[in-house]
Amino acid sequence: MTKPLLEVKNLCVDYDIRNEHALPWKSPQTLQAVKEVSFTLGAGETLGIVGESGSGKSTLARAIVQLEKATGSILWGGDTELIGLSRQQMLPFRSQIQFVFQDPFASLNPRLTVGQIIEEPLTVHQPQLSRTQRRERVRSMMHRVSLLPNQINRYPHEFSGGQCQRIGIARALIVEPRLLICDEPVSALDVSIQAQIINLLNSLQKEMGLAMLFIAHDLSVVKHISDRVMVMYLGKVMEMADCSVLYKQPSHPYTQALISAVPLPDPQQERSKKRILLLGDMPSPLSPPSGCVFRTRCQYATTECATRTPQLQSTGNSSEHSVSCHFPAVSLS
Ligand code: ADP
Ligand code: MG
Repeated sequence: MTKPLLEVKNLCVDYDIRNEHALPWKSPQTLQAVKEVSFTLGAGETLGIVGESGSGKSTLARAIVQLEKATGSILWGGDTELIGLSRQQMLPFRSQIQFVFQDPFASLNPRLTVGQIIEEPLTVHQPQLSRTQRRERVRSMMHRVSLLPNQINRYPHEFSGGQCQRIGIARALIVEPRLLICDEPVSALDVSIQAQIINLLNSLQKEMGLAMLFIAHDLSVVKHISDRVMVMYLGKVMEMADCSVLYKQPSHPYTQALISAVPLPDPQQERSKKRILLLGDMPSPLSPPSGCVFRTRCQYATTECATRTPQLQSTGNSSEHSVSCHFPAVSLS
């Protein structure tokens, strides 16, 4: 059996929160942003990561490249433990793991031309290339993301949001990474542009054999790009399954609520579908509910949910389908 490209086990990230009005000798509060997250990702595979804002998706992504201090294990390529590596030791892996961010404008340096922006990672990670070779790679990458060669000397402000995201994708892919982490790459774009960017990422992924972690806050965005989907809530994994299984047989009430919020293309089906509303707001991550973290917003919660913490377990439907709930799949007809 081939080893997975990425194997994350029991990953936890805590932030120390110091209240500026607190007495100086008081110890800081701990915010557990990511709690015991485990998953594997094979070469060329896409895992969608979904959850409302604040569920720990970005923290998880940053922890994988050691931008956040984490505990647990992150095994890269089957043999390298990334946790604990210094910035210098991370450098070769940083070129293999690239990011595309949510805000295309903010993530591009406004003082550099498009050509310079896309070229920059090459100068860091492949210094042996000559200037001509670098420019050649930039032109070819621009072509692959459907930017015109004559746009190479333009500045980011001359581009639309969708085009800026193409620049961000070209910059991430120019060093030919093995894993692309897309953190809400289409959330800031118009709906009409979102599909174009998702299609572009899909076709580039196939061409280049890339693995992807694709983060989004709603399930409709990851549906067409993911092989598997992981649903997070308050730092924890609520459910994980193959894409086809998750959308057909969601077992966790939170996944069911997220799916019921996805609009259906057929107006008749859309009108008649069962909608599951989430109760109230997400609780403060500084004082998460006891037992099941989702219970305060769950319409099926019982006293047991307040006292016993559910573990992520296989549903029995398929070995790849796991859910963290005492009463999975109680609804949805
Ligand atoms: P998401 O990407 O799912 O919206 P984040 O990973 O950004 O979630 O945040 C998860 C939790 O961690 C949130 O409660 C957020 O407020 C908190 N958080 C994120 N970054 C920091 C930080 N640098 N310091 C303290 N708390 C943080
Ligand atoms: Mg985020």
